[in-house]
Amino acid sequence: MDKAVIDFLRSLDRSLFLEGPSKRFADYDGPLPIGFNQTISQPSLVAYMTDALEVDKTHKVLEIGTGSGYQTAFLAHFAKEVITIERIKELSVTAQERLHDLGYHNITNIIGDGAKGWAELAPYDRIMVTAAPAEIPPLLVEQLRVGGKMVIPYGERTYQQLVLVKKVSDDSISKTKLLDVAFVPLISD
Ligand code: SAH
Repeated sequence: MDKAVIDFLRSLDRSLFLEGPSKRFADYDGPLPIGFNQTISQPSLVAYMTDALEVDKTHKVLEIGTGSGYQTAFLAHFAKEVITIERIKELSVTAQERLHDLGYHNITNIIGDGAKGWAELAPYDRIMVTAAPAEIPPLLVEQLRVGGKMVIPYGERTYQQLVLVKKVSDDSISKTKLLDVAFVPLISD
């Protein structure tokens, strides 16, 4: 893994993204509840996914599933610009406040259905999805730039795989399986 990602993982205090009883378990390398039946992801997995996406300071990144904003901070640190979508308003607003307080000014927070992406600002150099749909949403592939990459978990509720998708041309992608994972479902309204 890129040393810069590990350094950032070590430097970011995860307790800032937690409230109430979860806060004192911030150092535990596992998912934790953030309310509304949602979870903050496991730190080592967030670092792994960030590394796999190969984000740099020229990239416009779309993130689906803001949640606590923890993964968003990684993306904002390594990217030029992050557009992050969350369907639960309270989570989006809280994450936005936290990220602002941490000094990030390159993040646009959107409340909506991320399964549809966000066509207004497409194409994206990178897409990070942190909730699992049954299949890869075609609109996300459409909004990815040719040559761009997406990290996404998908599959059944009980068995999902994390894959790296590369957009090879306007009508073709390649997929590389990274890991077996368990994410909360991507809910499409
Ligand atoms: N990366 C986040 C993990 C959040 S869990 C973190 O580290 O905190 C996944 C999030 O995806 C949840 O907050 C859930 O509400 C959100 N989500 C689920 N379906 C969605 C959809 N269709 N559009 C946007 N967000 C969605």
